[in-house]
Amino acid sequence: MLSTRRYQHAATAGAALLAAACVGSFAHRSYVPAILFGLGVLVLTEAALREHRRLRRRRLEDDWARRRALGESPPPLTPCCLLARSSGKDIHDQNCTSDHTLSRFLDRIEQQHREET
Ligand SMILES: [Zn+2]
Repeated sequence: MLSTRRYQHAATAGAALLAAACVGSFAHRSYVPAILFGLGVLVLTEAALREHRRLRRRRLEDDWARRRALGESPPPLTPCCLLARSSGKDIHDQNCTSDHTLSRFLDRIEQQHREET
């Protein structure tokens, strides 16, 4: 978690510095470097926002795991895991917060088989 926060802060600081360089270049009528600095601002801002989302998701997963370890049965997070979101819910990673036990998998396969016949 520390490295994620470090990346977020570094990207934010880089975006701020590039924004200042962009404004300075425009003030000196150097438009080509200003455009390049502006592109750098966009890239680093996206990186900072991505790290922020990753940090927030990791905090939610940690809280979910803590509640589960205390004996509670919290509902699965939305999405249940990041791999499910990118795979269209076909694949789940090891930190998935939904129930994917073997018995539930077999029930789903049997239900699909019954629907086909
Ligand atoms: Zn999942």
